[in-house]
Amino acid sequence: MSQAADGDGATVDGVRFEQPAEGVARIVLARPEARNAQDKAMLYALNAAFDRAAHDDEVRVIILAGDGPHFSSGHDLRDASQISDFPPVGNWGGTAQPGIEGYMASEHEIYLGLCWRWRNLPKPTIAQVQGKVIAGGLMLAWVCDLIVAAEDAEFSDPVVAFGVNGGEYFAHPWEVGARKAKEMLFTGEALTAAEAKQLGMVNRVVSGERLEAYTLEMASHVAERPSMGLKLAKQSVNQMQDAQGLWTSLQAAMSLHQLGHSNDWQVHGVGIDPAGVGIIRKQAKAPPKFRD
Ligand code: ZN
Repeated sequence: MSQAADGDGATVDGVRFEQPAEGVARIVLARPEARNAQDKAMLYALNAAFDRAAHDDEVRVIILAGDGPHFSSGHDLRDASQISDFPPVGNWGGTAQPGIEGYMASEHEIYLGLCWRWRNLPKPTIAQVQGKVIAGGLMLAWVCDLIVAAEDAEFSDPVVAFGVNGGEYFAHPWEVGARKAKEMLFTGEALTAAEAKQLGMVNRVVSGERLEAYTLEMASHVAERPSMGLKLAKQSVNQMQDAQGLWTSLQAAMSLHQLGHSNDWQVHGVGIDPAGVGIIRKQAKAPPKFRD
């Protein structure tokens, strides 16, 4: 277990574990200076914190929040750590293998594998999101059962510009429907909180000032119910999605994602199309183009 799971109230590896109310744990992304970009240390600390909440019988509901103006800008592309620096959680193995074999193994371990693990945590989870929620940030929000958003929250996945299909937990069509998923992916534009709510991706939208208190009140309200009923309700909905093919479709998209990275390695000598960085930066500086 990493230090993050031991340090109540302390931020370790970019994650803070809090117990703000009876029956409620709050896991906080605490790298606001980096817009909560997820490096490997943070992902493993996040996993340790989810495990701690899962194994603590006093915790019945888990909130996932982010410090600062933005929930998460996605995976930290500046992360210089090696995956071999961390004990693996999954059993894919082979992360040190050369070529796309190692690359695919690494992304199965730290992206799809961890996200699927968190999605399947039996206790109710609530994402509390504000500001930018980009690519890998979306993945964190989507694996939670409920999403409460501040009015200023914006949801985007611009990584088609890197020559891949989208983030590694490719739940876009499940979350916003097939047509909106294509629009998000093709244009790289962000959905507003109001649009996300209309599409059923977000449960509630509240003002930024109310976000934390509102989410905590909802978590405490849910936590009054018996853990058995909550687990059964969660599993019943999740198993419906599983029967519809969620896991199979996530794995299929992950395979195509690796095809994209493989093509980038062959054509550009790196895992992402370098031109994509400019495309995404230019879009981030410009006002949104396609709003109703
Ligand atoms: Zn990738």
